[in-house]
Amino acid sequence: MNKQVLIAGGGIGGLAAAIAAARADWDVRLYERAAQFSEVGAGIQLGPNVVRCLQAWGLQRPLQQVVAVPTGLRACNAVTGQELGRLPLGAEMVQRYGASYVTIHRADLHQILLEALQGLPEVHLNLNQTVSSYSSQDDVVTIRTSAGKLIEGDALIGADGVRSSIRAQLLSDGLPRVTGHLAYRAMVHQANLPKRLRTHEVTAWLGPHLHAIQYPVRRGELQNLVVIVQGAPPEDLDHWDHSANLPDLLKHLHGTCTYLQDLVQHVPDVGGEWRLWPVADRVPVSSETQMAQGLVALLGDAAHPMRPYLAQGAGMAIEDAAELQSALSMHDLDVSLRLRRYALNRWQRNARVQERSLRNGKIFHATGLVRWGRDLSLRALGGRIMDVPWLYDGAL
Ligand SMILES: Cc1cc2nc3c(=O)[nH]c(=O)nc-3n(C[C@H](O)[C@H](O)[C@H](O)COP(=O)(O)OP(=O)(O)OC[C@H]3O[C@@H](n4cnc5c(N)ncnc54)[C@H](O)[C@@H]3O)c2cc1C
Repeated sequence: MNKQVLIAGGGIGGLAAAIAAARADWDVRLYERAAQFSEVGAGIQLGPNVVRCLQAWGLQRPLQQVVAVPTGLRACNAVTGQELGRLPLGAEMVQRYGASYVTIHRADLHQILLEALQGLPEVHLNLNQTVSSYSSQDDVVTIRTSAGKLIEGDALIGADGVRSSIRAQLLSDGLPRVTGHLAYRAMVHQANLPKRLRTHEVTAWLGPHLHAIQYPVRRGELQNLVVIVQGAPPEDLDHWDHSANLPDLLKHLHGTCTYLQDLVQHVPDVGGEWRLWPVADRVPVSSETQMAQGLVALLGDAAHPMRPYLAQGAGMAIEDAAELQSALSMHDLDVSLRLRRYALNRWQRNARVQERSLRNGKIFHATGLVRWGRDLSLRALGGRIMDVPWLYDGAL
């Protein structure tokens, strides 16, 4: 009889973990607290390290149908509007790293993962079920849902996001860190924008105490916009997504170039809406035992919530899942050893990505001499310092 894994959370990480476990011949029971599987209307960049994982799961074709493949990654000065450096993406990434650098609507990625799970008899996806706690004894882990249901399995994966209740019980390490960074996000139809504001590239606009990212998604039909500013978070932090207010955002953008302000102001005119998302993170775990203990392991944001300045949070969740597949497939090992192996092979890379994301934020938002040095290096070295070979190669 197959072993059974319980998964808390049906975000990108939870669904990826379900695919991974099913591919390792485990039965899967996934519990998502929301009434439906959905992702907010925002985009996501997937580096070649992540695309390779999805390809290994046979998802190349559905991906190709919905992604955009940006031609380059540009860094621009948000105040002067000048281009500072450019890393060619497209064919160059495939040549260097064996897969494309793509951008995708979150809902499209979610749908691809869900479709990959549909029809697998050994996978049971359960909605409207909040996992409130777990207990484990000998070779059995039992979860309790908020409705009081008890479900037993051979392993539990906490993929329940940045405010993970599985992590709270496993590590008792308090709430995630409030970063003081706020992400304003919007999605618009490119055809509705004036031509000069459309894009087929990823552009990072770097300004004092802020940065903005624009890129195409859904075959280039939509444009995703994110503006990250530093400021006091709204009072009600329990809700991730807040209706944001354009005048507030424009105040933050005072002094930036006309292009950026124009783009931001066009959002409501073309039927888009600015939403506000406070950014939270945690310091990295300091050993594999903080990522897996006994029959319980953490995955995705539950394990390593990070600032989005390397665009790899969901990517690391998918990489976690790929590693989980290898570990769960070691059918001669005890389950706790398999999970330990999973954590051993993941925690340091995740920590490195978390640290690099934090550092990127400081560089992106720099002022004074640091900003001057940043612009100078980008002008001199361009794409060479924007490339991240260890990350895209999948090395530690
Ligand atoms: C502005 C911004 C831009 C980003 N851009 C990128 C990018 O370009 N590329 C990239 O790779 N990453 C990016 N990220 C990061 C990425 O969004 C996250 O890392 C990723 O979504 C984490 O997925 P997850 O499944 O681990 O967690 P989540 O997406 O948070 O999913 C957790 C799920 O668990 C459910 N849940 C929670 N508690 C329970 C419970 N007790 N019981 C049952 N279910 C529960 C939730 O409802 C949710 O569905 C970005 C993040 C932000 C904020």
